[in-house]
Amino acid sequence: MKNSYKGSRKIHFDYHTPPDFQEVASGFEPEILMKDLAEVGCELINFFAKDLFGNCYWDTKVGHKHPYLKRDLLKEVTEASKKYGIKVVAYYNVMDLYNVQVHPEWKHRGCKEVQNSEGDYVCLNSPWLEKVLLPELREISSYEIDGIFFDFLYFHQPCFCKWCEQKFLSEFGYEIPKDTKSKEWQAYTKWLRKRGSETVEKVCKTIHEVNPNILVGINWAYVQRQPERPPDSVGFITLDINETDCASLNASYYAKYLRMLNKPFDIMTTRFLHWWGDWSLKPVVTMEHECATILANGGLCIIGDHFYINGKHEKEVLSSISRVFDFISKRERILDGASSIPFIAILHATENSYVKGNGILADETSTRGAHKLLLECNFHFDILNEERLANNISDYSLVIIPEQMNLPETLIAKIKDYVKKGGKLLLSYDSSAEEVLEAQWINELLGVSLKHKENSKLGYIVPEVLALQKDLPKMPIFCRSNFVNVEEKTAKTLASKLEAYVIKTSKQGWEEWLGAGVGSPIFDKKTPIVTANKFGNGEVVFVGCEIFKSYFEYNDWTLKTIVRNAINLLIPEKIIEVSSPYPLEVTLLKKEESYLINLINWHSERAYKAPIRAENLSRMNNVTVTLTLDRVPKQVIMHPNDEEHKAEWQWNSNKLKIRISGLHVHSILEIRT
Ligand SMILES: [Zn+2]
Repeated sequence: MKNSYKGSRKIHFDYHTPPDFQEVASGFEPEILMKDLAEVGCELINFFAKDLFGNCYWDTKVGHKHPYLKRDLLKEVTEASKKYGIKVVAYYNVMDLYNVQVHPEWKHRGCKEVQNSEGDYVCLNSPWLEKVLLPELREISSYEIDGIFFDFLYFHQPCFCKWCEQKFLSEFGYEIPKDTKSKEWQAYTKWLRKRGSETVEKVCKTIHEVNPNILVGINWAYVQRQPERPPDSVGFITLDINETDCASLNASYYAKYLRMLNKPFDIMTTRFLHWWGDWSLKPVVTMEHECATILANGGLCIIGDHFYINGKHEKEVLSSISRVFDFISKRERILDGASSIPFIAILHATENSYVKGNGILADETSTRGAHKLLLECNFHFDILNEERLANNISDYSLVIIPEQMNLPETLIAKIKDYVKKGGKLLLSYDSSAEEVLEAQWINELLGVSLKHKENSKLGYIVPEVLALQKDLPKMPIFCRSNFVNVEEKTAKTLASKLEAYVIKTSKQGWEEWLGAGVGSPIFDKKTPIVTANKFGNGEVVFVGCEIFKSYFEYNDWTLKTIVRNAINLLIPEKIIEVSSPYPLEVTLLKKEESYLINLINWHSERAYKAPIRAENLSRMNNVTVTLTLDRVPKQVIMHPNDEEHKAEWQWNSNKLKIRISGLHVHSILEIRT
């Protein structure tokens, strides 16, 4: 393939039009749209070829065209776009509600035993694939398009339709299991995800037989909830991040994983305050912040908008997006081609996602907890699956394994070797994993003996060494989590555990309430819970509870402080340290001979409800960056360059110290060596 996917001044125009809407495209003027887009500097659009209702927007001979659409929209758009040098990616939604009605036998089937398994759309394992999808794709691929963006081209729910049942039975010899906690369910999850990738490869092959230059992206496929390696035929990774909580936090979380997959990736944010079911407009500064987060983490931006029902676009929205594009323009050239400098790695394991799942998708709570925690401590870090970690482990100063299970032997061998040679490891544990507790490798590495114990899911952490006590209240730290029983062998205790008081029976209600004394610490018995062990030339800190999951769920700053202190204990010397009056997002990238330090400022407003947004952002002063650098830099350049924004630097004994004032949304410090 000659093409590669790039650029961050892109707009996705949503246009789902139910079949009874006679106004479809009645006011659509491709020439005016393209002219307006060119004026704001837009480089690429996602344009609808097929909506979720199953309506096609081109003159199809094999598919179902929207009943009131009299034009070939895809043709008109690709022709007009060429005049203005704008690329077109065709949007294709595979839910196809039209064919659900016409061919109910192709419909996805849930079952009552498995929660949230029901859904109204066609199953990718049904004959729909060969009879509808592939013939339609052959047609679309003959248009002058640059790419195809698929929505829902993966299995996001377990399916019990006859096609799935037949295929599974023929491979495994038993029916699709219904117990989501069983070993058979893990095998089913793995199988369904594999089927998803096989479908993707078939789809790409069909498209590339017509036009090998068409780049294929699949919304939400191969992100953390489905952390397999994307097939080579996929041209770019893309996802419209969830915006119902904090879009910027999600953007950061996904980008830190996707940048490790060696493919270009888009993160889509919308102009709406309440994501897709909305017609409102975000403040420009909020959109800028989201785009800054994406760019600073090595991603490409795309902004989502809707056409009105008649196909017209809102020019006032384009005017806001134009300001965001200006913001992007000042940064994208500097960041283009930069890659993350390995420093701290968080493991998000594919194999763990089969064991601990949410239906057939991964349970991400512990990874998200680790992400939020490290972000708030101004650490620079990457999130990697086991394949990427195994290949790159020696580059990292610290590896964090946040409650991940079922690690493959190859990775275990790499981890042991890494620590033996001087690597640092922070591992927290899922106490529900009986088989993992008994694993010899883990006991040896941690210098402890671990035993599972049923308990109240409550307990206390009492830091015993000064380094772990820093900035913490001098009281037992309450933690809602499963705990493991830890017995020291060669390890030393950094923190002890206190049991929580739990009542045995409840006769009149309210007796199990934490406000009624339940959960109080029992002071007379202490056992180790955070330990440190030397292994070869390296060191391992172990936390015997689900501290990252608990941080995600309860947002307790004291748990964050314990982890931060443990990290500082393991790696007192850091390639980059940033102190700031409020937390920033920090990323450290490398491009040729330059370091690129990104600092992103964010204060959201008080809010009773989501969305979390800012209307104005005050500038931050007194930010200090310390970079380990073995020579005097040739130049330190601050981007963007404006009067209110200043940086002063000095280099001394392998440390470059930069003081920054006037940081607004996003600064890039370019350090030329
Ligand atoms: Zn099915």
